[in-house]
Amino acid sequence: MSSSAKHLLIDSREFVEQSLEIHDKILASLLPGLAGLLTSSDRELWYQLLGGHFRGDAPMLRLKIKGVLDVRCQRCLEEMEYAVDVSRDFVLVPAESAIPEDEIEDDTADYLVANCKLDVLALVEEELLLSLPFVLAHEDNCGEAAAFVMTERASPFRVLEKLRQT
Ligand SMILES: [Zn+2]
Repeated sequence: MSSSAKHLLIDSREFVEQSLEIHDKILASLLPGLAGLLTSSDRELWYQLLGGHFRGDAPMLRLKIKGVLDVRCQRCLEEMEYAVDVSRDFVLVPAESAIPEDEIEDDTADYLVANCKLDVLALVEEELLLSLPFVLAHEDNCGEAAAFVMTERASPFRVLEKLRQT
């Protein structure tokens, strides 16, 4: 098995003009920028790329990524699951100079310069990394809270003692 994902190159303009779609699954561990964060290597991510005109006339690409990653909580260092749910729109522009200077403050759309060899998995990786929080950590039931619950639970040794006594 190869250690990195196969590159999938598309012509982004043609992809939009013909309203093409691709979707696939990829092992998260094959995305090099992500591999260092993962505590398991068998999680798959689903992604979909759509081309078309979703908002008026603008040529657009729409990227969706979904899945679950096994990562380490950066607060308590326990393993945790992180749910990925990315949805991102890109307005295709012919050149960098066509990106408006006062780029609209829109958190869900971005500009992408048209490229006849757009690397789809590189885009998936980039957007995935951008979507991760600054600190990957449990939202609740983190570290100290979990340790507290552990001590409250009956210890198996105590149960054994009881069995011996009867
Ligand atoms: Zn934690």
